[in-house]
Amino acid sequence: MKGFIGARQTTLASEISLTGTGVHSGAPVSIILYPADGDTGLRFFLSNGDGDGTEIPADQRSVTGVTLCTVLGDGNGASVATVEHLLAALRGLGVDNALIEIDSNEVPIMDGSSISFVEAIDEIGLVELEAPRRYLKVLKTITVEDAGAFGELSPHNGFRLDVEIEFDSALIGAQKIEIDLNPGSFRRELSRARTFGFMKDVERLWAAGLALGASLENTVAIGDDRIINREGLRYPDEFVRHKALDAVGDLALAGAPILGAYRSRRGGHRLNSLVLKAMFADSEAWTMVEAPRPAREVRHAEFSQRIAAANFAAERS
Ligand SMILES: [Zn+2]
Repeated sequence: MKGFIGARQTTLASEISLTGTGVHSGAPVSIILYPADGDTGLRFFLSNGDGDGTEIPADQRSVTGVTLCTVLGDGNGASVATVEHLLAALRGLGVDNALIEIDSNEVPIMDGSSISFVEAIDEIGLVELEAPRRYLKVLKTITVEDAGAFGELSPHNGFRLDVEIEFDSALIGAQKIEIDLNPGSFRRELSRARTFGFMKDVERLWAAGLALGASLENTVAIGDDRIINREGLRYPDEFVRHKALDAVGDLALAGAPILGAYRSRRGGHRLNSLVLKAMFADSEAWTMVEAPRPAREVRHAEFSQRIAAANFAAERS
């Protein structure tokens, strides 16, 4: 819980520039992550190159696509795809506020996981802001069944994920992970898990103009009887870990860290989005709460900044 349950909102200590490739377009992309004030949340800024552009909040109401990746749009034709691995890194490390400037309509895929974003954020670090951190507290259990998938958000004092997948391929089969999320567990257990795809699907996707940037550099490719990537897997159960990573990113679209437990069976971006929408549709299912300030902070206000910094440092294992 430590680190993830800080009393104050955070942002990046300074700006971060990254370049990469869009997995669907195959085109080069540059992004700059800027620090942002308290209560800004996570927001995308689609730059048109001359300082002008379109802002799209990382919010479940902005979701316009859930096939292969999560897409956010402004309702007027501007959109940004593949937001989930970047949002997972920001939420997973406890970054509450950031402006993400991007010169394309797709977040770069990097190595198919969140680790490039995590390393870049860890390198510059976070700062605490005056604004108290607010959590979205789940008050009652919400369930969604959708085409063989099952999702559930339920009350829990923390943020817990319980994800199960089941594939016909013997190389994946049935996998399950249960994890209490905090910056340390996110870094260790989820952040390096890569996206994956079946070789038999690749030609179909390419014919549809999708996954043009997919390669063994950013995707675990599953053949009939073996993993095609020469380096093999990063975790024996990398597939379910990636699904959990996706869930962290998709649930970041709640707009605030969640106090609750999320279960996903045979799910994906579509299920994650449906569960969030179902929760927000029921006003009795959730409430916003402020993190209580630790007693020591009230007694020793002058040291609070230093204590908080030490807490973050302790999580950076
Ligand atoms: Zn993913």
